[in-house]
Amino acid sequence: MSEANGQLTIGVDLGSTAIKLVVVKEGKMIWKKAVPTAPGQARIVDQLMAEGLTAVVQPAETVSGVAVTGYGKGLVNGVHKVIDEVSANALGMHHLSGGKARTIINIGGQDVKVIRITDSGRLRDFKMNDKCAAGTGRFFEVAARILDTPVSDFGPLGRTVEDPANINSTCTVFAESEMVSLMAEGVAKERIIQGLHQSVARRIANLAGDDLENEIYLDGGAAANSALGEVLADELYCDLCVLPHPQFTVAYGAARSLEVG
Ligand code: ADP
Repeated sequence: MSEANGQLTIGVDLGSTAIKLVVVKEGKMIWKKAVPTAPGQARIVDQLMAEGLTAVVQPAETVSGVAVTGYGKGLVNGVHKVIDEVSANALGMHHLSGGKARTIINIGGQDVKVIRITDSGRLRDFKMNDKCAAGTGRFFEVAARILDTPVSDFGPLGRTVEDPANINSTCTVFAESEMVSLMAEGVAKERIIQGLHQSVARRIANLAGDDLENEIYLDGGAAANSALGEVLADELYCDLCVLPHPQFTVAYGAARSLEVG
């Protein structure tokens, strides 16, 4: 199935933390939106789809296919294709990087994946940390509550810091109490944030090991945190590319998977 004659395809990524929907036309993401994951996922997807089609001023008949992926992919009926999230990520990044990507580090809401892909965008292998929240978007959300600062400010604030606070704990619960102690000592919030970035980057670098093959791309919602990307690149001793809208790669890959049957 393809999007011939200017038709549209839709990719939906039902993630652990956010539901993402993209509308794709001739390979371009022409509309996208992320909303928090909540009960009633099928209804949320219907609403997003209606909103997207209204925004791009297209009737439902112009949609040639809908593909779903992500943890909640089994919760939505009436779709043309269901694809696993790792293959969707591989394919999406392959297209968005112009075929250059060989390794993807995906930092999602509740897991981190290191995915290696072929020059045709197929999955070679992957490893995942889904046992522990440390190093995931969830970890930053816990920190955001303690520090009373939205996660979207972590990147801009962290980048201003030259002497990050030392956060040794790699476990969310211990890091939480470390953060509270640092705040009680009067350590500036941005220094704590940059310390968290370093602690998370060390953890992700451990997961990645020596298996990174150039070109390396960072995606998932937490990849929008520019300070985290910079610290991780330093930790890995390599260049990391972050494309615009990194939270939507997987949904986009699902949509593009409709072209290959
Ligand atoms: P999942 O697919 O597992 O639901 P996502 O890839 O959608 O996860 O990522 C969700 C995470 O992205 C959230 O935990 C959130 O903290 C993080 N996130 C989203 N936007 C930003 C941003 N602008 N800066 C930092 N983190 C962000």
